[in-house]
Amino acid sequence: MKHEDIKKVLSDADMVGSKSVVCGWVRSFRESANVAFLDLSDGSSFQKLQVVVDRNHLLVPPACTKLGAAVRVEGRVVPAYRGEGNDLDAENIELLGECPPDYPIQKKRTTLEFLRGIPHLRLRTNTFQAVFRVRSVAAQAIHRFFHMHGFYYINTPLITASDCEGAGEMFRVTTQPWNAQYKSEEEYFKNDFFGVKAGLSVSGQLEGEVAATALGKIYTFGPSFRAENSNTTRHLAEFWHIEPEVAFAQLPDVIRLAESLLKYLIRAVLRECKDELKFFDTFVEKGLIEKLTHVATSKFAVCTYTDAVSILEKENSRFEFPVHWGSDLQSEHEKYLTEVVFGRPVFVTDYPKEIKSFYMKQNADGKTVAATDLLVPGIGEIIGGSEREADLGKLVAAMEARGMDMAAYRQYLDLRRFGSVPHGGFGLGFERFVMYCTGVENIRDVTLFPRSVKNIM
Ligand code: ATP
Ligand code: MN
Repeated sequence: MKHEDIKKVLSDADMVGSKSVVCGWVRSFRESANVAFLDLSDGSSFQKLQVVVDRNHLLVPPACTKLGAAVRVEGRVVPAYRGEGNDLDAENIELLGECPPDYPIQKKRTTLEFLRGIPHLRLRTNTFQAVFRVRSVAAQAIHRFFHMHGFYYINTPLITASDCEGAGEMFRVTTQPWNAQYKSEEEYFKNDFFGVKAGLSVSGQLEGEVAATALGKIYTFGPSFRAENSNTTRHLAEFWHIEPEVAFAQLPDVIRLAESLLKYLIRAVLRECKDELKFFDTFVEKGLIEKLTHVATSKFAVCTYTDAVSILEKENSRFEFPVHWGSDLQSEHEKYLTEVVFGRPVFVTDYPKEIKSFYMKQNADGKTVAATDLLVPGIGEIIGGSEREADLGKLVAAMEARGMDMAAYRQYLDLRRFGSVPHGGFGLGFERFVMYCTGVENIRDVTLFPRSVKNIM
């Protein structure tokens, strides 16, 4: 259908006086004796286009006045009656699709919980329109950032036979039903599609290392799958994961890359999503724009795990889970550190090796690994990264200590046999970044169709 984006009609001063056609959904309708107003949204902009109808000359078909109805309007672009930009003086209004009164999205503000029950319609609301516009702008900015810095975009397999984190959070991929006649798991999987046990990848890192130790700088941006049994507001079973991996890089390089990526993305959102951020600042998180502006320009804090634990131990009375050296940091500790102690994003570094993955570089102290988590206010962990162990002997020892199946990692170990180099990278959860940028507190509300325990609508 030949028509203009509402965004253009709204904002292009050169269009004033010309005829135009727009299509969209009715977001509100008001009328007085002589004039009627129809606010239209077609998704192209956060602002609605005001269609003005001179009731003495044009009759608005009643079906076109209903909330949610789809209409096509021909008219003349005029300077807005109120405020900036343009309105459209209607000359003809046509119904494209009616919207009966049982349309679940009504004018009054509904709750996010209610909208979670209608994921196929909730994008018609201001909140979700804004979330998904920010999400798209951020995704484009991610590719721009890496391209600009000479990283190659690679696609790692989603179906895998190895469990990167070894945490047993993998979804299984199979084509065969369970059959009790098999005597062992191994025999069962031998008959399966791949001939071995396979699952959906929890991370593209291991394959990312393969690419980085040849191409130098790479990143992946794709889905990861985790059968997280925790029903939290920051975990999904399917999330989008940005994983850069860099050769000739040590932990400080990984930290620098993470900080500059995050700042670049925030600046892109501040610049390209002004209307959306204004909306979130008003209705979702007061002070959001100031927070983001501040974060984009100030240095992130860095603190070792050991120092973080000494700080937290003094506050143990306020935590549900008291902290001591060696314990994993829970969400309450992460939030306390970034919100109360530092008041800004903080990289926690050099965690005890027992609570981190086998592939992380072992520090000289024999107790910690060169890992880092970036913690941000309101969310906690948003990035997890590390320098990888490049020494074959140390890596093998760490894997044996964990009782891992060495045969399954032959290729990974080869990277340490043939021209091994210091390298590292991190994983950024895309949804967590969108939460941080919008102030939205539940990860289910920044995802089109969120998947979590007992939920696959
Ligand atoms: P957490 O401790 O929050 O469960 P993690 O340590 O398991 O995270 P990593 O394995 O380090 O996470 O993954 C890298 C990043 O991916 C995390 O920092 C986070 O932003 C994101 N992430 C991890 N698991 C999930 C999930 N289930 N849903 C959404 N994002 C996730
Ligand atoms: Mn992590």
